[in-house]
Amino acid sequence: MLDLTVVVPLFNEEESLPELCAWVDRVCQSEGIAYEMVLVDDGSTDGSWDVLKGLSKDNKAITAVQFRRNQGKSEALHVGFARAKGSVVITMDADLQDNPKEIYPLIDELNKGYDVVSGWKKSRKDPFEKKVASKIFNFFVRIFSGLIIHDSNCGIKVFKREVTQMLTLYGGRHRYIPLLAHQKKFSISEIVVD
Ligand code: UDP
Ligand code: MG
Repeated sequence: MLDLTVVVPLFNEEESLPELCAWVDRVCQSEGIAYEMVLVDDGSTDGSWDVLKGLSKDNKAITAVQFRRNQGKSEALHVGFARAKGSVVITMDADLQDNPKEIYPLIDELNKGYDVVSGWKKSRKDPFEKKVASKIFNFFVRIFSGLIIHDSNCGIKVFKREVTQMLTLYGGRHRYIPLLAHQKKFSISEIVVD
């Protein structure tokens, strides 16, 4: 029985893939977590697919999936979720903006009884307009749904497998995952990540 599936959508990330996979492996080994990684190449035009095939050959815990053309992050996550076998599913971006060390605190929070735990990049280095847009979005989410969320679009999130089976992601809907889960009556928590 697998404890954890790490789902990674990627588009032209050949440089960061080896480090990402090694990093996740190191963290899971040291915490004694039985894991798998499902990496979905969203139609990369660089050497990502060749790098990924090599990595999956070297490590049986790695599953590589390829889209023939670029479809978008939501579509890549959707296919990754469909392949996930772990009882807990983590999503992570491939560009090393998310730190695999966060895996353990996120799972800890999930084990308190939540269905979803979302990362919150509190000291985000985003441009001003992006920060304002996100504040406005979160404000309306709070008003209309009662869900208190600060960082809806953070790449690092953990889910009970049941939740990932129930989400239908396409056309940019990955940005609203906390709201989509909330609408299906799943419970959500947020913790600050690096
Ligand atoms: N990504 C993807 N398909 C795309 C664009 C991005 O799978 O069409 C992946 C990308 O490789 C990364 C993650 O989605 O792993 C987040 O992308 P990005 O860093 O561009 O988003 P941001 O950090 O700005 O939210
Ligand atoms: Mg990024």
